[in-house]
Amino acid sequence: MTAITRDRWRSNFSEWFDWVIEEAEVYDYGRYPVKGMGVWMPYGFQIRRRVLELIRELHDRRGHEEVLFPLLIPETLLRKESEHIRGFEDEVYWVTHGGLEPLDVKLALRPTSETNITYYESLWIKSYKQLPKKYYQIVSVFRYETKATRAMIRLREVTTFKEAHTIHDSFEDSERQVLEAIEIYRELFDNLGIPYVISRRPEWDKFAGALYTIAFDTVMPDGRVLQIGTAHNLGQNFTRAFDFKIQLQDGSLDYPWQTSYGVSDRVIATIIAVHGDDRGLVLPPHIAPIQVVVIPIPVGSEEEKRLVLEEARSISRVLEERGFRVRVDEREELRPGAKYYYWEARGVPVRVDVGLEEVKTGVLTVVRRDTLDRYKVAGEELPSFIAKLFNDITVNIKRRAWDYLLSSIRRVTSMDEAREWAGEKRGILEMPWCSREECARRVEEELEVKTLGVVWPFEEARGLACPICGRPAVTWVRYAKTY
Ligand code: ZN
Repeated sequence: MTAITRDRWRSNFSEWFDWVIEEAEVYDYGRYPVKGMGVWMPYGFQIRRRVLELIRELHDRRGHEEVLFPLLIPETLLRKESEHIRGFEDEVYWVTHGGLEPLDVKLALRPTSETNITYYESLWIKSYKQLPKKYYQIVSVFRYETKATRAMIRLREVTTFKEAHTIHDSFEDSERQVLEAIEIYRELFDNLGIPYVISRRPEWDKFAGALYTIAFDTVMPDGRVLQIGTAHNLGQNFTRAFDFKIQLQDGSLDYPWQTSYGVSDRVIATIIAVHGDDRGLVLPPHIAPIQVVVIPIPVGSEEEKRLVLEEARSISRVLEERGFRVRVDEREELRPGAKYYYWEARGVPVRVDVGLEEVKTGVLTVVRRDTLDRYKVAGEELPSFIAKLFNDITVNIKRRAWDYLLSSIRRVTSMDEAREWAGEKRGILEMPWCSREECARRVEEELEVKTLGVVWPFEEARGLACPICGRPAVTWVRYAKTY
């Protein structure tokens, strides 16, 4: 009996991740002559495409409009909002020459698009009657990362940056929009079976130019935390910087309010990371490029081999007609065992084995990727059986991922317990907090962790004391080792 193992996945996650994206031909990383840039290979591109379809659907359904702004942002625009440029200055790539000519104004490769989008909004929008407006684009952004880069997780070219930018006639409406952004991301991650916690980032770690930042984080198999999505209320900071006013309902002029929110390649990295096992990818069926692989098991005479192959092709045709994405692996140079290994690494949700026995009895062997459980299924029941199996797989991998995340959260009320946790340094630590920066900084320093921020939605820490200063705690704050 085969069984899944997750030893390598857990104890040597970084190595496992690099292995799996290469073995499954998802993303070719590390060979491009520019550090921090990689190539989406055909199989990976198919996964990415389905995730993008989902992202588009979630935004379109809630009235967002897709746009495409220029990649190059002149320095004069990028410098308009002073906090913003201060936050990004040391990681911007600059274009300084056109051919041999030095440029009068340096051009930034967009690190994000608040500035050029606000510039255009100031030309397009004059009145509250046009609001709210919700734009988004899915583009490459560039960051000159000085930390160690990592495939799909810390890149210098982020190739799949979905940035949404919205504009409103009141603060209240911008607050409602932040909630909608959170709802969109909840639905996105829930759909992909990705578990998360939501935190309000501390003041010192919010988006440069924002009033505040709400972030989604997840726990990687090695216990370190990865930020997978953020939503920012930008207030009037950018519209003020651009001196951009609109007419309000009462006839007065005022600066409109904005939000922005983004997700990136990390969504796909997280699907790979949280669902995988030692054999490779485990893909949710709805985003798997190939959902069912049919493996003919050739034994016996040439005639018998021909019968097996014909049966495999006929099963594939039936499944395709029912809307499944199917592949028959007819390669003669590979033995069945090698084919199992190959498709398991690629995370194909269901495998159907067809041998002479199956041809004779009409009963097929079906294997699911997430548990490697085997089933005997009568041929005519195969489509409905697989449809049900897809549902079981989706539910199982989501539950398994959530179990892991929830078991990675430790809530403590004293520094002694926190130190004990820090010895293991796995997952997320939650502690009561007085909300003063100096206390969080002390915890960061002593435990060598980062402050993720306070639990969102806000949760009172009634009757508890801040373990650092002893003052009454206001709420719960999260810490973790992060990527
Ligand atoms: Zn304190």
